[in-house]
Amino acid sequence: MPDVVPAAARAHTEDLGAFVSASPSSYHAAREVARRAEDAGFVRLDETAAWDVVPGGRYVVVRDGSAIAVTVPPTAGATTPFTILGTHTDSTGFKLKPRPTTGRDGWVQAGVEVYGGPLLNSWLDREVELAGRLVTADGAEHLVRTGPIARIPQLAIHLDRSANEGLTLDKQRHTQPVVGLGDVSQSDVLAELAAAAGDGVDAADVLGYDVVLAETQPPRAFGIGEALWASPRLDNQLSTHAAIAALLAVASEDLAGIGVVAAFDHEEIGSGSRSGAAGPFLEDVLRRVSVGLGASEDERARAFAASLCVSSDVGHAVHPNYPERHDPANHPHAGAGPILKINANQRYATDAHGAARWQAACAAAGVPSQEFVSNNTVPCGSTTGPITATRLGIRVVDVGAAILSMHSARELTAVVDPWYLSRAMQAVLAG
Ligand code: ZN
Repeated sequence: MPDVVPAAARAHTEDLGAFVSASPSSYHAAREVARRAEDAGFVRLDETAAWDVVPGGRYVVVRDGSAIAVTVPPTAGATTPFTILGTHTDSTGFKLKPRPTTGRDGWVQAGVEVYGGPLLNSWLDREVELAGRLVTADGAEHLVRTGPIARIPQLAIHLDRSANEGLTLDKQRHTQPVVGLGDVSQSDVLAELAAAAGDGVDAADVLGYDVVLAETQPPRAFGIGEALWASPRLDNQLSTHAAIAALLAVASEDLAGIGVVAAFDHEEIGSGSRSGAAGPFLEDVLRRVSVGLGASEDERARAFAASLCVSSDVGHAVHPNYPERHDPANHPHAGAGPILKINANQRYATDAHGAARWQAACAAAGVPSQEFVSNNTVPCGSTTGPITATRLGIRVVDVGAAILSMHSARELTAVVDPWYLSRAMQAVLAG
């Protein structure tokens, strides 16, 4: 582990901090990917319009909380393979329920559902915001974020003397945040959201919403030599940012393959949606690119057969207080480069060919690499990797950055690791 964080690594991870701060919800994250791509000259494509995809073109498409960016090399043809970086935009936490204004005993509260598998305790005693999208009667979608508006307050130790022997939170009764004081019947959480949306949005016109709770404390470096980085939503905005940064860094080069970043929503709840990895979004975009390049069905299949997807998601660094949770021989260390994820039961899609491609890319980038495999008694989670492999038949290798506190409201990475990951991704795209 280096004594000093390289300046380029610090700049990369500070830019990750800007990405995370701009992305309190998956909808914001997808638009931040598109904004960065458009600022670099990519053309925004509308899925309901005809596409004119040509060699040398660069494009970005947003579907709900997902975004796909594509760079087509000038020399690309009908059988040119795709090099895909797959990530996800959503993070575990809470989602606003219908009839969101609730409360009692002088407190106004917001009604929320649990989204995915958050560490519930990590959300206690933080000032959080409401963020996501509102859809008005005219069909228009409005991104919204309120700034600090809510907090899930923990019960005082005096009222729960056993709290330090093991905290048990009821997912319904104990997770509803307070948002203010007063009479519930005179309060309206939706009106606060409409006011925060600007654009003259009137609460009465809001007919639908997808709104989550989001941590508001900004990301920051800390620790000896400021080698550590604390941030919400590293799972998986760390990978999404690393991927779009890698694609933009090489987009003007004549790459061997068609470079793609696919950032999917809904990974934390199983990917089964029209914008999730189990849905058709990526296949739709790849097929339309193939059509633009004049590919027959046979040529399109040849392109898919030669393609590679690097699926990146965060993984677990060894926790110094719980080293026994890892495989005895495979101890991924924070600050020691990206992890290659391997699982005999294909919870990760990595196989021998994919592993070899990734290791070669890390070596070409001058990036250290390490493996993650589970302790046999502590089964791992999964990622979009096996879903993409199953959905498209494209070879997938699962990788990521080793972090601590996964699914906490505030996670922890080494400052150098997002930069290492992005450099290795660049090497994959370069072929
Ligand atoms: Zn994840």
